[in-house]
Amino acid sequence: MPTCFVYGTDYYRGQPADVNLMHGYLLWTDRPGDFVKKPVRECTGNEILTEIFYHFGLDEDQIKETLKQTYVSVAAMPYITSQFMPRHIADRPQVIPDGCVNLAFIGQYVETPADVSFTVESSVRTAMMAVWGLTGLQKPQVPMYEPIYDVRVIAKSLQMAVGSDTLSLDVRDRVGSATGGATAKLVNAALKRTP
Ligand SMILES: Cc1cc2nc3c(=O)[nH]c(=O)nc-3n(C[C@H](O)[C@H](O)[C@H](O)COP(=O)(O)OP(=O)(O)OC[C@H]3O[C@@H](n4cnc5c(N)ncnc54)[C@H](O)[C@@H]3O)c2cc1C
Repeated sequence: MPTCFVYGTDYYRGQPADVNLMHGYLLWTDRPGDFVKKPVRECTGNEILTEIFYHFGLDEDQIKETLKQTYVSVAAMPYITSQFMPRHIADRPQVIPDGCVNLAFIGQYVETPADVSFTVESSVRTAMMAVWGLTGLQKPQVPMYEPIYDVRVIAKSLQMAVGSDTLSLDVRDRVGSATGGATAKLVNAALKRTP
């Protein structure tokens, strides 16, 4: 299951103008890919990129041509990636488990509704929830930043994904079909929440 971030050009100081940069994470490294029929942990960097490019809709010739001009560096980072592994809601404890009066969990491996893992903010939030919850401090919680429901953020992401300055419903449908309808669902949810 890949997640990619396209930083593009001009990300690093001194990065040549014709060099693009992409960074990605892969989960479920023990499952064979849809196109490269090997588990990702047995793949070379080029094989991983080939799998990702097929998902992006590139054909074999385009992939071959792109790989000729691409350098892929791979790293296995199980401690970081463990935080992102898909899980069931009961796999990680709540900050203050039901019934606890003197025990709380903080950090990256607790379940906090709507928050994301692997950020300093989420660790700080869990500590606030723990201390304020156990001591009874009545302080307002810092509101959760929920960009996935912000239609402006979604619109900007869609614009970048399709490389266009304008957006139409057609674009939403095209990106939605490439992401199994997940994007269309988010856009619809955001539109419903927009005044
Ligand atoms: C390369 C990298 C880049 C990152 N970039 C970002 C970013 O840009 N933005 C962002 O928000 N987040 C980023 N993060 C994530 C963020 O740094 C962490 O989510 C956050 O620091 C976790 O804070 P924490 O206090 O929960 O845990 P930690 O900072 O991991 O603190 C846990 C502490 O417990 C100590 N400890 C562990 N076991 C024991 C023990 N048995 N006894 C005593 N002490 C123990 C450890 O030594 C450590 O000091 C990044 C992380 C990494 C690795």
